[in-house]
Amino acid sequence: MDPYYSRNISCRNCKYEYSTLKIKSRFIRPLTHDSDFCTTYHTLETNPLLYYVSVCPNCGYAVTEEFSSKLTKEALLAIQTKIQKHWQFKNYGQQRTVETAINAYKLGIYSGIITKESPIVMAGLYLRLAWIYRTVEPSQNQELRFLKLAVDQFELSYSLGDYEEKDMSEIKLLYLIGDLHCRIDSERQAIQYFQMVIRHKHKDKEKRLVEKARDRWYEIRRSSKVKVSS
Ligand SMILES: [Zn+2]
Repeated sequence: MDPYYSRNISCRNCKYEYSTLKIKSRFIRPLTHDSDFCTTYHTLETNPLLYYVSVCPNCGYAVTEEFSSKLTKEALLAIQTKIQKHWQFKNYGQQRTVETAINAYKLGIYSGIITKESPIVMAGLYLRLAWIYRTVEPSQNQELRFLKLAVDQFELSYSLGDYEEKDMSEIKLLYLIGDLHCRIDSERQAIQYFQMVIRHKHKDKEKRLVEKARDRWYEIRRSSKVKVSS
């Protein structure tokens, strides 16, 4: 049984029609969930993270479903001069290895940067790329590097409010920022964000996350690397 299906995409830059693989939902079997909402799967072959970014084989512009659907004139010019000009036809529409998936993410990140995608979209890309590195080598340099980039963008998203358009609650966002700070060893900030969850005005609506934030807050206090007052 083939776990993949092809999705057809029309490139918003060069209009080329291409197909990219996705995992059929019945083959997506989560194994565990990490505290930063990273899901692990039974096999690498059916890990949907590898297929999150679609790459146009004709011009190299790479997107996710979160990217904005319209490109401005400036964005088109940026893609044409910074990506397309240097691009040689390459097809990412086949089954991917971790390595090809990482390349697809880097193209997606570059495409997102030059076309000024919103912080919440960029944060999602950085975080997922960190998760892919985690499947290969947990808590090592590459994972931490992309977690740091993700947390910067999530913080920016929090201050701008763009997360509200992406089905992310404020409490979940604050919890996630706290968790990521914990992972990159910035405990002082982690504590601040967990406290923002615990004291949030909607704390009664998301009790489970608020409880988790409280546990994490105690955990960090107990480890006593940081002195905190309650
Ligand atoms: Zn294209």
